[in-house]
Amino acid sequence: MEKLIITVAPTGAVTTKENNPNIPLQPEEIANEVYECYKAGASIAHIHVRDEYGNPSMDKEIFKKTVKLIRDRCDILLNLTSSGGRGLPLTDEDRFIHMIELKPEMGSFDAGSMNFGERVFVNSPQFLEKLAKAMYENNVKPEIEVFDTGMIYNALRLADKGLIKKPMHFQFVLGVRGGAPGDVKHLLHMIECIPEGSTWSAVGIGKSHLPLATLAIHMGGHVRVGLEDNVMYKKGVLAESNVQFVKRIVHLAEMFDRPIASVEDARRILSITK
Ligand code: ZN
Repeated sequence: MEKLIITVAPTGAVTTKENNPNIPLQPEEIANEVYECYKAGASIAHIHVRDEYGNPSMDKEIFKKTVKLIRDRCDILLNLTSSGGRGLPLTDEDRFIHMIELKPEMGSFDAGSMNFGERVFVNSPQFLEKLAKAMYENNVKPEIEVFDTGMIYNALRLADKGLIKKPMHFQFVLGVRGGAPGDVKHLLHMIECIPEGSTWSAVGIGKSHLPLATLAIHMGGHVRVGLEDNVMYKKGVLAESNVQFVKRIVHLAEMFDRPIASVEDARRILSITK
């Protein structure tokens, strides 16, 4: 079995300081937190940024500043979001211009539209095609985020068109209200649906987090953790930091005798060629 890649998603677009005061929102805070997670065993950082008030932002200057601060500290693989800013008036291009300019190793690719809590998360076929093209041309590896099984096939159609390179990397995000439930049955079905040779990672929102992470460690998948996806460390206990989540996965992996991937390991496992 390959070594375990831990992705940390420290911020996201939804969680506020009211939800959990420990969430890093500003560039310095994010960079410091990512560095601590890197030292603890994370090899990928999935990055969202916020404006000075802590609201979601896709401002490429804030991405630029955050990326530089992280790069000054460590060589963790960067996975920048393309998810947009929850109601911000953005063009399709506004959602990936930072990837073209900053050329991170990876970028998130939300492979379809869905109800997401009380909102609609729009990723039209036209947008996905533009995003896939921009990522392909700039050698940014898509982290294909799958919230429901049909999204796998949206991504496979783009691979058939030559717009997503193989081997593909899937991130199964389960337990979002509007997407597939966070249970073992759904995760297993998704794993069965992806092409041979693909890599995959899983994240469960809320109480499904630990069971799905455990299964992923056991099955040869990879794991994502962080305050983007979970504000509670366990029932009734707020997470102290993103690092706390990373350390728990490192501990679990030790129990399963699965070594943790370094940045170089992750690069090789994911066929990242830069
Ligand atoms: Zn995200």
